[in-house]
Amino acid sequence: MAEGILIVLSGPSGVGKGTVGKVLAAEKKDIYFSVSMTTRPPRAGEEDGASYFFVGEEEFTRRVEQNGLLEWARVYGHYYGTPKEKVLDCLNRGQDVLLEIDTQGAKMIKSGFPQGVFVFLLPPSLRELKQRIIGRGTEPPQKVQERFAAASLEILEAREYDYLVVNDFAERAAQEILHIVRAEKLKVNRNKNLIEILRGDGYIQCP
Ligand code: 5GP
Repeated sequence: MAEGILIVLSGPSGVGKGTVGKVLAAEKKDIYFSVSMTTRPPRAGEEDGASYFFVGEEEFTRRVEQNGLLEWARVYGHYYGTPKEKVLDCLNRGQDVLLEIDTQGAKMIKSGFPQGVFVFLLPPSLRELKQRIIGRGTEPPQKVQERFAAASLEILEAREYDYLVVNDFAERAAQEILHIVRAEKLKVNRNKNLIEILRGDGYIQCP
């Protein structure tokens, strides 16, 4: 059985990764959405084990030392990381996995997992991005400026990714990501075993 596809989705704060992720989850129920571990305190409405696993710094450091995270990074003053075991388990069983992580984490994944599919979500404009960060209402005013400044820098990292998707409408952006996943599944280097199977059946005459 072919290994599942690891989709790494990044993009600046406020670009709408969460919203696009929700549309994707509704459209393609067989993708496993990895739940990250973070030392950031929960926001209103966030649930432990669903939005994130909320832990203290001690627990986070322990997981890093035990090599229990596939990647991790410090983002806006807090630690975030991807629990390793569940992700590898799903991929080995042929299930596709989506990680919604920052650009530092994506770099770490790319160095150990180059067969991943790296998608960068862009806002339609920087002006629109700022409005979305403000409109989200989750950050105090001084943090809005900090996140917006970081976002402008993060966008430069998009050059390292495989695909760019503009999030003008979450529904359309999610559809584009699904097209990417479908096309990736058809790549020859993900289907070498198919050629071997057909050869074994005698369908392909080899010289
Ligand atoms: P927020 O605090 O707004 O939920 O997330 C802040 C940033 O952390 C976002 O850019 C998000 O993509 C990133 N992030 C969330 N989970 C992870 C993770 O497991 N690893 C890394 N490297 N970044 C993450």
